[in-house]
Amino acid sequence: MKQMKNTSIQEVTFWPIDLPMTDPFVVATGIRAVAENIVVRITLNNGIVGYGEAAPFPEVGGEDRSSCLQAFAHLTPSLIGHPVHDYEELGRHLAEQAPSQPAARCAIETALLDAYCRAAGIPLWQCWGGADVRPRVTDITIPIATQDKTLSLARSWYDRGFRLFKMKVGKDVDADVRRLEALHRALTDIAFIGDGNQGFSRAECLAFADGVRRFGGVMVLLEQPVVRDDLDSLAAIRRETGIPVAADESVRSLDDARNVIAHGAADYINIKIMKTGVLEAAEIATFTLTSGLKLMIGGMLESRIAMGCSLSLVLGMKGFEVLDLDTPLLMATDPVQGGYRYEGPTLRPWHEPGLGVSMPIPADTSATRIRDNNPTRT
Ligand SMILES: [Mg+2]
Repeated sequence: MKQMKNTSIQEVTFWPIDLPMTDPFVVATGIRAVAENIVVRITLNNGIVGYGEAAPFPEVGGEDRSSCLQAFAHLTPSLIGHPVHDYEELGRHLAEQAPSQPAARCAIETALLDAYCRAAGIPLWQCWGGADVRPRVTDITIPIATQDKTLSLARSWYDRGFRLFKMKVGKDVDADVRRLEALHRALTDIAFIGDGNQGFSRAECLAFADGVRRFGGVMVLLEQPVVRDDLDSLAAIRRETGIPVAADESVRSLDDARNVIAHGAADYINIKIMKTGVLEAAEIATFTLTSGLKLMIGGMLESRIAMGCSLSLVLGMKGFEVLDLDTPLLMATDPVQGGYRYEGPTLRPWHEPGLGVSMPIPADTSATRIRDNNPTRT
């Protein structure tokens, strides 16, 4: 990799991208009809490019598209001229400058890693060790909807081979139990993850788990049933239901992960690169495994750019047991060329350098190009 010493960042381009959802994405904390994401492209001085994506989910992380665009304009000029192999140091610098903007940082880190790996001629999963690059299976997410809509959505995913259904719950215990029961009766060999997105109280979550147990439903995981800081309730729910608990919103940093684990509040940590950036996500994953807990990985509403980066962690590191990498399937369009592919619930890895993806810069004036300290419209 000697030739890489002189491979420096020449240009950063970023543009907004609208990704309409096939059905409204309704969770306990919010609703989205269109994912308002931003794509970042880094160009090196040898012409090699790398892509990244920010998928801000305002109700979860507090970031939105405009805060991400401001962050890019603020953060990216200082990258120009730096060697791309300094991606770790650059990532640390970004974290110092924009600690509360992980989705924006995630996009830049992903583009740096992608460009670095393309320059080195290795797939991104190789960066994390390339532990196991066999195809993997994801769950499928069913948003909060009427019983009829829930059934018709689930049937169509079932026909495509999906068997693990991540049910968004947490707004109404009785309605949640009835929706799951209807699916259980219609599609007998399925299993559930119940994702409350902090919507339940402790008592409501216990009633929900009991309701599912009564009709004979298989609940493999309870994800973030209660508010993020209520670690006592998470620990109690683990004890009283006997169902493994995954901490999602409770873990937005390595310190959060330490805290959750110290409180015995979870069996799984749900890793999401949009919550922490990519490099801290990898640190949290390593820490979680060495602490004896299990790993889940998910995303916000992401295309195959950001989700490919998450899949690279799965393929490169050991220990991700539950994959919730389905959001490109929930979108009406897939604007990404190349990269990993879906075959039903199976994710088929790519073998090209970096993420193996490409996306053209839009022909209109929506892209911003940074070559020095003066951003220009393309
Ligand atoms: Mg979740």
